[in-house]
Amino acid sequence: MRIDIISLFPEFVAQCAGFGVVGRAQERGLLALRGWNPRDYAQGNYRRVDDRPFGGGPGMVMLVDPLRAAIRAARGADPTPAKVIYLSPQGRPLTQAIVRELATRERMILLCGRYEGVDERLIASEVDEELSIGDYVLSGGELAAAVVVDAVARLQEGALNDAESAAQDSFEADGLLDCPHYTRPVEHETGMVPEVLLSGNHAEIARWRRRQALLRTRERRPDLLAAAGLSAEEVRWLDA
Ligand code: SAM
Repeated sequence: MRIDIISLFPEFVAQCAGFGVVGRAQERGLLALRGWNPRDYAQGNYRRVDDRPFGGGPGMVMLVDPLRAAIRAARGADPTPAKVIYLSPQGRPLTQAIVRELATRERMILLCGRYEGVDERLIASEVDEELSIGDYVLSGGELAAAVVVDAVARLQEGALNDAESAAQDSFEADGLLDCPHYTRPVEHETGMVPEVLLSGNHAEIARWRRRQALLRTRERRPDLLAAAGLSAEEVRWLDA
């Protein structure tokens, strides 16, 4: 997968993507990242990329032309078609289902705003989709872009050492939250590892994990249960 980042601080996203699974995905050739700075496409001695908003008010707005030129340069750098995704608090809220779909794409261009955002005409003419990483406002789209890069990179085949681990994560199997996890030592001043996990009985362990995932989901995110497709036994677990 190839991801082009349009940003005044493209190295910020590259830094975030340099570690752990995402860094490894790049080393393994599963992910190629490239940054494009609209300032490199701005005109004049000052290479302006922003200006005051028409109608008055605080802050600055990113200019159409440098952004459009950067997007077009990114598009032209590779023959694979790419949708332009603007990271915006006004976009579709990012979910694991959307991440799964994005992860199947060969290429995408992520557009990061700054200041009050970008001129609406750039969005209307160049942007295909808008994505939000939550109902709060960041000072720039770079962290949001890094979130998208991380979430899709770990789903690339071969990125995780154990592909099974992604399948067991929260929001994956039936959309439930993940079960609790334990490791050594068995006894610790903070508590014991649940006995069933030491039993070696894989069927019992799977049952316990499923039950824990259900109970945890009900406690923390009951909104996710409706889509989970529970068996009669699982409904009884929750009723108990
Ligand atoms: N005036 C804009 C609004 O209220 O919708 C907010 C602009 S924000 C200060 C600057 C940039 O940060 C945005 O253009 C966008 O790229 C990014 N951004 C801020 N919050 C975000 C979020 N929740 N998800 C994705 N991107 C976000």
